[in-house]
Amino acid sequence: MTKSVFSKPFTQQEAIPDAGIEHAIMVLRSGRLHRYNTLEGEISEAALLEQEYAAYMGQRYCLACTSGGYSLHIALKAAGIQPGEAVLSNAFTLAPVPGAIDNAGGKPVLVEIDHNYCVDLAHLETMMLQSRARFFMISHMRGHIADMTAVTALCKKHGVTLIEDCAHTMGASWDGKKSGSFGKIACFSTQTYKHLNSGEGGFLTTDDDQIIARAIIYSGSYMLFERHGTVPQAEVFTDIKLDTPNYSGRMDNLRAAILRAQLPGLDQNCTRWNKRYRALAQRLANNAQVYLPQRPDKESYVGSSLQFRVPELDQGQVAIFIAGCALRGVELKWFGGVEPHGFTSRYDSWRYTGNSQQLPQTLEILATTFDLRIPLTFSIEDMDTIGSIIDEEVSEILS
Ligand SMILES: *Cc1c(COP(=O)(O)O)cnc(C)c1O
Repeated sequence: MTKSVFSKPFTQQEAIPDAGIEHAIMVLRSGRLHRYNTLEGEISEAALLEQEYAAYMGQRYCLACTSGGYSLHIALKAAGIQPGEAVLSNAFTLAPVPGAIDNAGGKPVLVEIDHNYCVDLAHLETMMLQSRARFFMISHMRGHIADMTAVTALCKKHGVTLIEDCAHTMGASWDGKKSGSFGKIACFSTQTYKHLNSGEGGFLTTDDDQIIARAIIYSGSYMLFERHGTVPQAEVFTDIKLDTPNYSGRMDNLRAAILRAQLPGLDQNCTRWNKRYRALAQRLANNAQVYLPQRPDKESYVGSSLQFRVPELDQGQVAIFIAGCALRGVELKWFGGVEPHGFTSRYDSWRYTGNSQQLPQTLEILATTFDLRIPLTFSIEDMDTIGSIIDEEVSEILS
């Protein structure tokens, strides 16, 4: 029997919707790409996007900026981080998170994850007590949302400010409440591989007057802060505008126009991702060696990627499995590697943090965890092909 091969690329996104392309052309024709370059009475694309995304989130304020990582950085600054302060973060995340903590002058203190890729709540409390950190930057990594009722209760109990990294949970919610509305601040990315695509870009959302005022000034508003889409009253800026440096990181009107056209279709796309996710999860559930994370009823996730474990595989078999899938066109990422690779890096490779924490539980989970993207360019039938390949390759090694 010849082995089936999957031939679509795992990194191909859908085209920008026609409305977005037309909108982008209008901005290009106008020549007014800078967010403060407006005609009399005109509201810029960037400002309109801020209003629309704040409304989508049900939050008072949104700042559009250059990237998700940038928004994480200024979120910590706007929250009042002081040089050298500890910032808690779950250890399973991507490099921009510890990078943002470092950029804000903080020191990452890492927390174990559980078998469902969420922050381990018992370890979180231990580390809150041990570190006395004032900030917890929770990364809803790969869209897995921890019990947010418990997380917010722990933060409250220990006086910790919660900042949410929602790079993978845009459009998701916990117990009927949008991911990104549990913390003091939430950060989102509109980089190509996330849920909205402007190449690069980010949002910071909050309900807090002081925080948004500081974030706006940090983002490089000069004294044009009143031209933002969602701004507190001018008085809020009286001291903040003099006390806050300009860390130039503005969103431009071209990217804003592209994003504005995508936002109305976001929820529908989330449904499309989930159809694919569920089809693949169902196919993989046939194999008893494959462990899928449990997803609680309260979690309305966005299945733009899927993680699974094959706990029986040893180190050598992991490499054989990844290579076997790759030969058949299925691109798996592995977070267990000592050496960082592509977009993937394990926490102990972030040497600049000077952090020598040992997180055995996280290492054990990541050692046999595989991760694959689910771009919307894949059909539901493709999920069956991919699932079969994974199933067959696992069975071949472990039989
Ligand atoms: C992509 C990503 C970021 C950073 O977003 P950029 O827009 O690329 O800076 C932060 N956290 C996670 C988990 C991400 O996947």
